[in-house]
Amino acid sequence: MKLDYWRYDLKLKHTFTISRSSRDVVPVVLLKFEKDNIVAFGEASPNARYNETRDSVEQFFKKIEVEEISDPFKLEHINEYLDSLAPHNASAKAAIDIAMHDWIAKKLGIPLYKFFGGEKRKAPLSTFTIGIDTPEAMIEKVKEASNYPVLKIKVGLANDEEIIRAVRSVTDKPLRVDANEGWKSKEEALDRINWLATQNVEFIEQPMPAEQLDDTRWLRERVKIPVIADEALAYHDIGTLSTAYDGINIKLQKNGGLLKSRKLVYTARAHGMRIMLGCMIESSVGISAAAHLSPLVDWNDLDGNVLISNDPYRGALNEDGKIILSDEPGLGVKPLIPTTDS
Ligand code: MG
Repeated sequence: MKLDYWRYDLKLKHTFTISRSSRDVVPVVLLKFEKDNIVAFGEASPNARYNETRDSVEQFFKKIEVEEISDPFKLEHINEYLDSLAPHNASAKAAIDIAMHDWIAKKLGIPLYKFFGGEKRKAPLSTFTIGIDTPEAMIEKVKEASNYPVLKIKVGLANDEEIIRAVRSVTDKPLRVDANEGWKSKEEALDRINWLATQNVEFIEQPMPAEQLDDTRWLRERVKIPVIADEALAYHDIGTLSTAYDGINIKLQKNGGLLKSRKLVYTARAHGMRIMLGCMIESSVGISAAAHLSPLVDWNDLDGNVLISNDPYRGALNEDGKIILSDEPGLGVKPLIPTTDS
């Protein structure tokens, strides 16, 4: 039995800008768990928004006694054990949990979506995300994404309206808009969302800072499109969120992996909420893990591996927004370059 991990820099095809940051390279930690001649893969894509770095991921991995994760079928125990080592550290925990799921499904000889009781044909179409840029550059990016049926547009800076007008000058396809907590006052957010609702925007994601739950509740009572929680999911339980949001954006890297995310799907449904499955910038390991869960959700935003130029794995494909799940056992991912010690 062996647990290995190593650093890898995911290179973005375009500089990726959201309301709080801009990036060309995304540092991740890739992971491999081997037992009974089965090799399973995991990935942590740490995000500064949740106080994680590549160093903190590696420090977390160093605390793990590999005996405690020696039986991957004990998913509940393993998740409790990881939580007992330290709070938070969601991406580090996700990496282990993803590898455990890959191993289990490989051992059973089935693709992971079958382990979840899902059907491939039910995976929703995925959006393609356009980061914040100048209106001219946004137009070019929208043209490059012409094969994708639904776009996700990042806003939350001063030029929101200019950006959406630029996008609308070249396409009339449905848009989903993510402000990444960019609007600080509820009156400003109300004005912007009311205008977006006239632009064939399906929903607005995280319009205001995660902590401003009362403002978001006020906002939701006044707008005509659904309001979806993303960053707020790390701060409030589902029952609380359901009083201020219509749906949630689940990300394995933010929520600690597949077991916890699957529980969130059922809890959110019980509160009458809609569910989007999103991602960080991740390789095909992290994206494939989410893709196998995606037949259980309403909306997919799984393009993290499409946005990079040096994906070290091949796995679930995103072909013009259609998620193609492999029927290979487990995650169905294959390394394209040698993993650390092979
Ligand atoms: Mg978001």
